[in-house]
Amino acid sequence: MLIIRTGRIGEPEVIDTTVKSSTGIGRFFAPSWEIVGGHKRWAAERAGEQPPSWTLKYAAIDDEQYVAAYKQLLRARWKQYAPELRNWLQGKGVVTLACYCSRGKFCHRDTAAEILLQIAQAWGIDAKIE
Ligand SMILES: [Zn+2]
Repeated sequence: MLIIRTGRIGEPEVIDTTVKSSTGIGRFFAPSWEIVGGHKRWAAERAGEQPPSWTLKYAAIDDEQYVAAYKQLLRARWKQYAPELRNWLQGKGVVTLACYCSRGKFCHRDTAAEILLQIAQAWGIDAKIE
């Protein structure tokens, strides 16, 4: 049984899935700067705040658009990472997908967990999100 969890960077034995600092297999789960920046811009504008200047080159996207763009990105990356993913999942008991976001905040790690669950199931690995 593979247990899929989400967590925060800094907690023990987590997989960094951020665009900023992920490495190795974590890169598969990382969003793009375009998605992250576009969503940050949207969130700031929605709150009536000035978006960070680095986000202004990206089109603002809401939560729903974020999830759609992120899923599309992972589908596009899929072939490249499939063999590595398969090796990495071999015999794994727990995987914790982590980001810098606070718990309970909208974050790509929840979508990443759903995608990993689908991948595991497609490969006949008994898995669940916890
Ligand atoms: Zn996050």
